[in-house]
Amino acid sequence: EEKKERIKKMYPVGLVHGTYIIAENEDGMYIIDQHAAAERINYEKYLKKMGTHDDHMMDLLIPLKIELSPQDFLVLKEKMQKLIDLNFEVEEFGINTILIRSHPYWLPEQSLEEAIRKIIDIVISEREFDPYKFTEKVAITLACKMSIKANDHMELPAMEDLLERLRNTDNPFTCPHGRPTIVA
Ligand code: ZN
Ligand code: ZN
Repeated sequence: EEKKERIKKMYPVGLVHGTYIIAENEDGMYIIDQHAAAERINYEKYLKKMGTHDDHMMDLLIPLKIELSPQDFLVLKEKMQKLIDLNFEVEEFGINTILIRSHPYWLPEQSLEEAIRKIIDIVISEREFDPYKFTEKVAITLACKMSIKANDHMELPAMEDLLERLRNTDNPFTCPHGRPTIVA
């Protein structure tokens, strides 16, 4: 495949400012933004998972109660079907509160509540509902949330793994926000 030959295997040398991975290969030297790179990898992963139309759900042992502002609750009530379409099992639960009983399987287990709140925010704020844009927005938001941050320490094997996975993405050169992953 041609696209996978665009960057040759890169070998990490170290981390600078806790943020940039210095790497090299026979073509030269690279500076990789660790958050932007991880974001690109996670973005493509979520986009693929959301695009598979797999309706597999995860039941929550303890249903999650989410309280909203009165305005947000009203807006969400009108758009509840969007959450159901995404494979949430959701119902109204008293004043300005919804209850989540199941969620789509692709949601990250860590920071589950935060991820669900972010998706609800996107549903509430979306005016004209475009399924593609919606999926993209959710994937970007989750990818940013789940990716290693600047100043998070990484060991060499983890860097090597990150560079390898970046190289195998469809678009290894920018994060989903358009920031460069590879600075030099
Ligand atoms: Zn980010
Ligand atoms: Zn980004």
